Amino acid sequence: MGSSEKDVTTVIDVTKFDTSDYKSVRKSPQSAKGPIKAWETDPNFKYEVQRQPGGKDLLYCYQCSTCTLSCPIREINPDFNPRKIIEMAVLGMKKEILESEEIWICASCQACYERCPQNVKFSEVIGAIKQVAMKEARKGNIEITSKKPGFDGSFMSMIERFGRMYEPGLLMDFLLLKNKDLNGLFGYMPLGINMFKKGKIAFFPSKIKGMDCIKNIFEKLEEV
Ligand code: SF4
Ligand code: SF4
Repeated sequence: MGSSEKDVTTVIDVTKFDTSDYKSVRKSPQSAKGPIKAWETDPNFKYEVQRQPGGKDLLYCYQCSTCTLSCPIREINPDFNPRKIIEMAVLGMKKEILESEEIWICASCQACYERCPQNVKFSEVIGAIKQVAMKEARKGNIEITSKKPGFDGSFMSMIERFGRMYEPGLLMDFLLLKNKDLNGLFGYMPLGINMFKKGKIAFFPSKIKGMDCIKNIFEKLEEV
């Protein structure tokens, strides 16, 4: 669907914006490293992102920065800049963007989507970029240093095995098996015991009915 067909109803209250922020968010993504070198970019990267589920909106963005100025994550992490991530993707800065920590910290709260004049669903665009990152990492073309994909992997592995969350298993998988973080695991124990006493978590895992459907979903995901 083209942007002209979209029903844009959100009114942006510009009086709530701190316009001094434009100075920082309009900086070139490469400003710290010097000019972008055309021969180091991949002009097909934007199409690769668009081919992933959720990636189709990428080229509707016209770089107004409304998303960045609406983002609660940016309030606590000034390095996070949705507009800049889209700009880098469009410019073909594939390796820089796929190896950056920032692509893993969007909270999918949709505050930016509510205000985007182009109805760009940034959380889905970033999801498409993450899909490319995972594929390239599996091929050994990039190195992902963020721990977030590991956590997501542990989360999905619980869903795949039991059809629901099994918190002790999630912590064992993520903290112990993936990160060898014994202190982190023990750190969660008092909270875990309290939750167990209140019946919020189960000691042993149990599978849902209809595990066949879960199996089918994961098989379809493998094909994407
Ligand atoms: S608000 Fe929408 S159009 Fe503006 S920079 Fe963000 S994604 Fe692009
Ligand atoms: S969806 Fe992500 S980028 Fe958009 S406002 Fe929420 S945290 Fe920020």
